[in-house]
Amino acid sequence: MLKDRLFFLLSKYNLRARDSLGQNFLIVPDVIEKAIEVGEVSANDVVLEVGPGLGFLTEELAKRAKKVYAIEIDRRIIEILKREYSWKNVEIIHGDAVKVKWPEFNKAISNLPYQISSPFTFKLLKRDFEKAVLMYQLEFAQRMIAKPGSRNYSRLSLMVQALADVEIVMKIGKGAFYPRPEVDSALVLLTPKPKEERIYLNEKLVNALFQHRRKLVSKALKESAHVFGVDRKKLKNIIIPHSNKRVYQLTPQDIKDIEEFLKAEGIISENSNNISGV
Ligand code: SAM
Repeated sequence: MLKDRLFFLLSKYNLRARDSLGQNFLIVPDVIEKAIEVGEVSANDVVLEVGPGLGFLTEELAKRAKKVYAIEIDRRIIEILKREYSWKNVEIIHGDAVKVKWPEFNKAISNLPYQISSPFTFKLLKRDFEKAVLMYQLEFAQRMIAKPGSRNYSRLSLMVQALADVEIVMKIGKGAFYPRPEVDSALVLLTPKPKEERIYLNEKLVNALFQHRRKLVSKALKESAHVFGVDRKKLKNIIIPHSNKRVYQLTPQDIKDIEEFLKAEGIISENSNNISGV
């Protein structure tokens, strides 16, 4: 049914999906239902949706939420949405979701354009919200949930897990979308940790370490000293916490320990680039 409606709209408006904008439209109602169910969307919710596309998810969100803000970059799509729907509680914002100012919301539910997965997620993690249910490329989702010491553990895993609990709700094959994408997807639930458990990491330090993902911490730090503006001689003859671990084995708390130590030793300054999410 969704597929028929999609084909009808594409042909009615002579619209060709743009690959460069990640326009792979969902044509399986189960996935939309799952996103709504996991997001526990109810009449008190203000939902942020990025990339409403032809409005199939937006329609279901609008039925249940108090308000939906839908940010869409493609003017052609906005025109179609305005003609096809008469939503009272949906506000469409034209722009690039990575650049535009976001309104207040408490839930984010979206079938994301994969090109913006990373900047979107980091922008999201700087905000206060209750939960987010988001579609990602499967490989990206696997990196988000990867645990320290595992093959997929990366800067992304660490930065996300320092601030939120993350789980893959369901894996989704290519056939759930039109046009069919080249990669599999996954629906992910992100729940921010309670404020007192969030670990705000120093971005420069994380970047410096992860430039040498497989090296011992002591070695990685020395080799990347310039990245956080430190003379590598200062790192000589000191015993850095967790220095016997390899970078890809570090938990967010381990990195915080290293940061605190470097501050206490006067190697990095108290106010050096303490980030709130990215
Ligand atoms: N929600 C629809 C669905 O599930 O069928 C469409 C999802 S489609 C994967 C991604 C949508 O995001 C497209 O409508 C595309 O035009 C839009 N988009 C792409 N880049 C964007 C950006 N930077 N900011 C806002 N919207 C964007």
